[in-house]
Amino acid sequence: MSRRRYAEEFLTELRSRADIVSLISEYVRLRRAGRRYVGLCPFHQEKTPSFSVDPEKQLFYCFGCGQGGNVFTFLMKMESMSFQDAVETLARKVGLPLPKASLDPEAQKRRAQAAGIRKALEFARDRYREMLFSAHGVQALKYLEGRGLSRDIIDMFQLGYVPAQWDFITQGAIKAGIGVRYLELSGLAIQGRRGTYYDRFRNRIMFPIWDTRGELIGFAGRALGDEEPKYLNSPDTPIFHKGRELYALHLAKPGIRSKGRVCVMEGYMDVISMFQNGIDYVVAGMGTAFSVEQARALLLLCEDVVLAYDQDEAGKKAVRRCIDVFREAGGRSRVVTFEGAKDPDEFVGKYGGGRFGQLIENAPTDIRFIYEEAAKSADISTVEGKLHVKDIMIPVLASLDSEFEISVYTSELSRQLDVRKESLEKDVESYRRRLRGSRAGASEYKNPKNSNTTGYDNQSRSIREDYGVHGSGIALGRQRAEEGIIRALVEKPELIRMASAYLDESDFAGNMCRLVYTNLASSPKLPEDHEVSGWIAEICAKFGPVDRPERVLMDCVRRLKEFQLSELREEMKLVQEAQDEQRLMAIINEYQELLRQVKSTRGDSLDSFPDDFPGREEG
Ligand SMILES: [Zn+2]
Repeated sequence: MSRRRYAEEFLTELRSRADIVSLISEYVRLRRAGRRYVGLCPFHQEKTPSFSVDPEKQLFYCFGCGQGGNVFTFLMKMESMSFQDAVETLARKVGLPLPKASLDPEAQKRRAQAAGIRKALEFARDRYREMLFSAHGVQALKYLEGRGLSRDIIDMFQLGYVPAQWDFITQGAIKAGIGVRYLELSGLAIQGRRGTYYDRFRNRIMFPIWDTRGELIGFAGRALGDEEPKYLNSPDTPIFHKGRELYALHLAKPGIRSKGRVCVMEGYMDVISMFQNGIDYVVAGMGTAFSVEQARALLLLCEDVVLAYDQDEAGKKAVRRCIDVFREAGGRSRVVTFEGAKDPDEFVGKYGGGRFGQLIENAPTDIRFIYEEAAKSADISTVEGKLHVKDIMIPVLASLDSEFEISVYTSELSRQLDVRKESLEKDVESYRRRLRGSRAGASEYKNPKNSNTTGYDNQSRSIREDYGVHGSGIALGRQRAEEGIIRALVEKPELIRMASAYLDESDFAGNMCRLVYTNLASSPKLPEDHEVSGWIAEICAKFGPVDRPERVLMDCVRRLKEFQLSELREEMKLVQEAQDEQRLMAIINEYQELLRQVKSTRGDSLDSFPDDFPGREEG
């Protein structure tokens, strides 16, 4: 396997430097709970946290969906990366040089390509910035200053200018030794009909676009004159995917985390204006429809999502779609509306950041926003007006997941329209029935609710099923004893010597337990395979911290032996019935040997075994 290309020592060093809590915190808001951290799982939709991170073991595990592992596994799942890309990303992050010749040829190619693209982009960014402050950029700089942007903010967002020249970047880059291939791959240059290359961006103010980690991945160019389109984006490239990225997220993350809130806007200029005016928890989409993936990324960072779109018809339509996207992603949003300006940028220009901050503070919930818009378009003192609003609101209310929300909003609507709540409830109910009817047979896009907040029972059931699949049908008690042994050994690998006095691999009925035990018996290091590390993370999360691994080990060894004893007793009965005396003698010998072992495991004070053990640590 390709992972073997990395020396074990390198991976260990990297894992210890790349702290799992800080890595996961870049994607998920974590809160301390005892010795662990918990948060909403980034791998399945949930409203109550069942995702836990263990800083001591440097592992994560989700009780809801069963995903788990170490820093590498996390990045692989989160960013859909290969193991090598995850290793490389982490190494770059913590500043650990990669060992030479550690990549397979395919990965080496991709890595070289990404590096080439990045180099071309960085070259262009630096040239654009120079141009902004040169004689060519006078008009562009004037425009930015006219929008109230300070030099600090211009630097922070690395804004630049590209002159109205056909091959400004293309020529410059070729002279600087950057291959034409990378100019094309990065979307900076386009090949003309006669085979020559020319610049994609000309006479535009240039906005660099970064990924979540702050690496440059593309540009947006704003026309200075009347050229269409007003905003031109880099095309999707091997390192830029519009449906996934959020503008300025790496700059906004600290603000989002500290305020517990994110504000989503349409335009890049809106975002920059907000930062200029002290509102630093703002991001924008990529000019394409907001995706569930983008919504999920934000909901993992905070709960309070505020949409502040343009106030025209197109903006209102986009907000409606965005509301649905956040609902579909398992969250909710609020919506800012205002008068006297067409977009947030213009609003702060006229009235200042303080006023806009208040708008964000007081923004109505998504459902109230939809109501207010509906009510604006009708005269609700008339029957026709009431019917119009009702027709808009019933499908909206019927689509809500939460009965509580439905009840709250139905009450509100009954007051606003001055109609009886019961009649609205009936309408919602019959709409839902129709909806269900039409959906029956069709596959629902929503996952079944993760209603069990602890998730523990779900999980143990799925583990049992898992064992069942392998045909052994292991009793839960036996399974727990085996897992307890592994948990103790993971905590303190030296205990393998103590364990091997009583056990060998044939004592384990669970495939995973046997595999890990065999591995530990031959080397004190845990296997690096991510399926195995995910399973180990799960065991660690299930048992919680282990204070006295020796005791847990011996308790579980004894339990396992007792299970084996009862299994032998069963077998003895069968053999007696079959009158197979030879076999019976063998079993009796085996039984006595086992009994002796069980007695020898009863050392001092090992007799007490809490009934609920092993349990998941609460809180
Ligand atoms: Zn999960």
